[in-house]
Amino acid sequence: MTIADSTTFPLQFELTPTQDARAEAEREVILADPGFGKHFTDHMVRIDWSVDEGWHDATVIPYGPLMLDPSAAVLHYAQEIFEGLKAYRHADGGIYTFRPEKNAERLQRSARRLALPELSTEDFVESIRQIVTIDAGWVPSAPETSLYLRPFMIANESFLGVRPAQKVSYYVIASPAGAYFPGGVAPVSIWLSTEYSRAGRGGTGAAKCGGNYAASLLPQQEAYENGCAQVLFLDGETGEHIDELGGMNVFFVHQGGTIVTPRLTGTILEGITRDSIIQLAKDRGLRVEERDVTVQEWREGIESGEITEVFACGTAAVITPISSLKSPDFTIGDENAPAGELTMSIRQELTDIQYGRIPDRHGWLTKLV
Ligand SMILES: *Cc1c(COP(=O)(O)O)cnc(C)c1O
Repeated sequence: MTIADSTTFPLQFELTPTQDARAEAEREVILADPGFGKHFTDHMVRIDWSVDEGWHDATVIPYGPLMLDPSAAVLHYAQEIFEGLKAYRHADGGIYTFRPEKNAERLQRSARRLALPELSTEDFVESIRQIVTIDAGWVPSAPETSLYLRPFMIANESFLGVRPAQKVSYYVIASPAGAYFPGGVAPVSIWLSTEYSRAGRGGTGAAKCGGNYAASLLPQQEAYENGCAQVLFLDGETGEHIDELGGMNVFFVHQGGTIVTPRLTGTILEGITRDSIIQLAKDRGLRVEERDVTVQEWREGIESGEITEVFACGTAAVITPISSLKSPDFTIGDENAPAGELTMSIRQELTDIQYGRIPDRHGWLTKLV
């Protein structure tokens, strides 16, 4: 019997409303300029799991600090996974989210790799619906804004022995997010990390876990020091193939419109934005190649004109054009280069679907409220 089989679902959520929700006026001030990841809504979801009981006590409770025993396993051995998705307010007043079942499935894969219990897709989507329903007033309505949802799961057993925790907690918190590029989409320069990798063969690169991010922070800092917005990692084994950025996947547009992105090798995180872009490109009749890409191919492609556009993608920024790649020894591309035409057109189409401005022909949207 697998862990998922041992629970009865769907879970029923018990609601404990907060006694001190922010006043509407205060909320409106926050929603006028939310930034990213700075402000949180009035409630959160919590579901507990134990070996004996499986998933139980699904609750919606006031947002607030956690009580963790100092010996909680997550604080010592980083047994933690997370997700990131958004809720969008449409012109019809409804609130929708984008491909949440993909996030649920990825959380299940991450759980398997981190020896955490799997939460069913149905319970995951319901947990999203619960938080967005109670905190619907926190979904901003200005163009390109959203409510960012952060589900996460932690080892919550007080035990310093090294083994998978027998007590786990799952939470969902929500944070209003402003437009990622308030001044219009601007291309970024990225930094090539030649010294560090984010993942290795057999490691946790394909899992969305905090540990991968911990490993990316020092090279990310190096990127900032060199005037770059993000860091690009190569595969750990050969140090030649492009893996991805610290939290975004990478695409190359070739002459004639062929789109190339690194194939999923086990060290790359399978982005839902990546998957959606591949689909939209195919819908346009473009050729899509998932294969190895080397830094040398990037350099030669820019020099010869074979590569015409480069961009990164992920839920937070959707699509960010990349103007140049910098390393201690060379720079590829021109940091003042404008955003690519196809890059911007696919970005527009994807956000148009997410915000309900064009038909959702792939059935990617789920109405929450
Ligand atoms: C979350 C994440 C992405 C992007 O995934 P999306 O589902 O598109 O948001 C890419 N790389 C890493 C390392 C990530 O953690």
